[in-house]
Amino acid sequence: MKTDNFQRPIISLRISITNRCNIQCFYCHHDGIIPKKYEMTPQEIERIAKIAKNIGIEKIRLSGGEPLLRKDIVDITSRISSLNFKDVAITTNGTLLEKYAAQLKEAGLNRVNVSFDTLNPETYRFITKSNYVDHVKKGIIKAVEVGLYPVKVNMVVMRDLNHNEVWDMFQFCKDNGVILQIIELLKAESCPDDDFFDDYHYDIGIIEDELTKKATNIKTRAFMQDRKKYFLEGGEIEVVRPMDNTEFCKNCTRLRITPDGKLKPCLLRNDNLVDLMEPLRQGASDETLEGLFTQAILNRTPFYGKC
Ligand code: SAM
Repeated sequence: MKTDNFQRPIISLRISITNRCNIQCFYCHHDGIIPKKYEMTPQEIERIAKIAKNIGIEKIRLSGGEPLLRKDIVDITSRISSLNFKDVAITTNGTLLEKYAAQLKEAGLNRVNVSFDTLNPETYRFITKSNYVDHVKKGIIKAVEVGLYPVKVNMVVMRDLNHNEVWDMFQFCKDNGVILQIIELLKAESCPDDDFFDDYHYDIGIIEDELTKKATNIKTRAFMQDRKKYFLEGGEIEVVRPMDNTEFCKNCTRLRITPDGKLKPCLLRNDNLVDLMEPLRQGASDETLEGLFTQAILNRTPFYGKC
């Protein structure tokens, strides 16, 4: 296992396999737009995953853009699963999950996070400019049914948009055997202008206070940015608060890859990427590629505060 200059072990890799998306969340921190023709092939993704395994990565998450838009998503998943990582997961908007859940399970996927900010069709339309509430619900239910365990719902909480809906979403999750993960809105370079943040940022500390009062048990997830998990009323809520959170950075064990094959040491920075794809396509050896991983790991500095 490799460690960065701040004694943080690097054990997880988030591979963005496309920038394309079929919904348009207005707050999305997507990493620029690259044309489809520059996306990594399944073979290239597999090679990168093998190198990642060699340097001690234990967990892979496929993301995007919307990963299920790739027609070869089952092939990609199966190639990665065959490398025996401790965990292979996907983050998806859930719109195509009903169609793919069983095939992905069969291909070796362990679990899935579904981004779903609201049950209200009007609010959903406002956030995503689309009408997929029922598709997403069906996708979530199907994922549970085929045993992609645990299924988690990612809900970005936004002021006066869905902050009053957290308990309804929690009820939906409990009813369907799903864990709710509430996420504080993040301001990133690639987000829209500052107004969006001022308008919609909601301090989820307010919800955490309520959770603390109601919970029968609270756990902190080491190696997962010290996220808190609250157990209450027969269900589970996890809280993700990255903004200005030095603990979040201190406990970050993740490296990322952009859809065109650049190692990205931090979600919030684009000035320290390391290109893997050009060398890989030029026939670089495993040792050279491992060296590039090391370089990216050494480029890691905490975005918020010092470790
Ligand atoms: N298309 C997939 C999906 O919808 O899950 C994967 C990509 S999406 C960018 C990954 C996650 O990032 C989603 O859960 C989304 O809600 C979250 N996200 C995007 N922009 C964000 C922001 N500004 N603040 C907090 N979370 C954000």
